Amino acid sequence: MAQTIHLTLPTEATPLIRKAAELLQRTINERSGARLVPENGELTLELALQPGLGAEGFEIADGPQNTVRVLANDERGVLYGVGKLLRSSRYSSEGFEVGTWRGVSVPQKSVRGIYFATHFHNFYHDAPLEKVQRYVEELALWGINTLSVWFDMHHYESFQDPAAQEMITRLQGILSTAREVGITPSTGFLANEGYAGSPPELRATWGCGDRHLPAHYHTELCPNVPGARDQLLRWTKERLVPFVEAGLGYLWLWPYDQGGCCCHQCHPWGGNGFLKCAEQVARLAKREIPDLKIVLSTWDFNSYYPGEWEGLAQAMAEDASWVDYIMADGREGHFPEYPVKHGSPGGLPLIGFPEISMIGHTIWGGWGANPAPVMMQGLWNQGKGLLSGGYPYSEGIFEDLNKMLFAGFYWDPDRSAEEIVREYVAYEFSPEVVEEVTRAIGILERTLPRAWGQTGEEPRFPIERPEEIEEAEALLWAADARLPEWARRAWRWRILLLRGIIDGELLRNDFHTSEAAETALEELTVIYHAEHAGRYVAPPTKAARRVQRPC
Ligand SMILES: [Zn+2]
Repeated sequence: MAQTIHLTLPTEATPLIRKAAELLQRTINERSGARLVPENGELTLELALQPGLGAEGFEIADGPQNTVRVLANDERGVLYGVGKLLRSSRYSSEGFEVGTWRGVSVPQKSVRGIYFATHFHNFYHDAPLEKVQRYVEELALWGINTLSVWFDMHHYESFQDPAAQEMITRLQGILSTAREVGITPSTGFLANEGYAGSPPELRATWGCGDRHLPAHYHTELCPNVPGARDQLLRWTKERLVPFVEAGLGYLWLWPYDQGGCCCHQCHPWGGNGFLKCAEQVARLAKREIPDLKIVLSTWDFNSYYPGEWEGLAQAMAEDASWVDYIMADGREGHFPEYPVKHGSPGGLPLIGFPEISMIGHTIWGGWGANPAPVMMQGLWNQGKGLLSGGYPYSEGIFEDLNKMLFAGFYWDPDRSAEEIVREYVAYEFSPEVVEEVTRAIGILERTLPRAWGQTGEEPRFPIERPEEIEEAEALLWAADARLPEWARRAWRWRILLLRGIIDGELLRNDFHTSEAAETALEELTVIYHAEHAGRYVAPPTKAARRVQRPC
């Protein structure tokens, strides 16, 4: 246990290496009684570059006289090595006990992303920017190297709409922090996306006889209406500007949910009209940002119309020069069959889009944390041999553990979910509570599915498999008593414990809320900054229930 630590950096330290040192120091200061000293520390931590280890990789090794070295292939590797060192170390009021993990570690997947769905007044949309920025820094320590955000056009009359400009400023703030921690900015456009004020005469068709697009905002344009493609390109050019300034590295082009057009000339959208729009947008964006990677999404392909994957494969066989990646993933954990059977269209690398938020109930995260290691492992196993990485879809901080599971899978595809859960618990809470909290997390996954019923005026939330609820609650309370103060007060612990408390209260009250459950739901609302959140992301407090309906 060291009370004084001397930290050394390479003489040519880049801003990212200095940032890694800053995060190391911040974590030690916040969690332990140790302090950094300019010389003669009881422990020396040395951050250094050692090219040749493999892209973004690092080695942690012992040096002479109580020195531990983080040797990194490159500047990102320094940050990821610092993250690993922090996760394997122990913290107490007496000092800092440096982790015993030694060895070389190199990420196996190159695209290790997260997608913040910046809408619905969720955490990413409404929390103070500095909280979102800190969260981005914490993701980077787990090896996340790209972050996607969304400017949802249909909320705004035009790009000049003050609300649109406010959103752009916020997204730039998130992405500038991302760059400071070595994260490549990304965003997504619906290929035929339109503003609320889009010209009605240019709009797409969403109901064509028996063909009907279920997720459509009716502001999208039809690329086959004269003038619509020019309008789409003008809007693209306009809203690319702030993303160019933010250092955009990936641009997703998206077909559906919302989006699409089912008119005769666009049909079948994914293999026809979508590609015509997407190619023009992609070529324009690549002219504006020469190193930009285009990610073509296949979301909901072949769900409404057959032939979309086949149309894409044919188009990519003819000319794939405007696409860099194909994004493939399906709803409810179903990986699409087409690339498994036929390979990726055009032989392009595939990246995933796993669902980590919308699990177990229609209010995502409304009951606290939703850890789902078994489900995440199952999702990963389906695509891990095919994928070069991915961007889990995130609606908030309630699925923090699920994010870190994918960060772990992308780093080492064969690492088990359980091993990552244990590392997470030891780092974020305490190595002393790994057994009981890992067991409680397993129960919280099994007990999450629930409904929303109504008995007269009183809502009722029956839980499908309530058998182990009291055990999880007891395990979490027992761990709570053993945690250091910094961990016990942290939001990551509170959302886990609150989930245990709420479920226990529901069980004892025939699945009605109690006063204690209401207090817990209020605390979740504060943690998520969900006071104005939409129905899918607002904890079901009394106030929220007045505007929500059973789903
Ligand atoms: Zn059309």
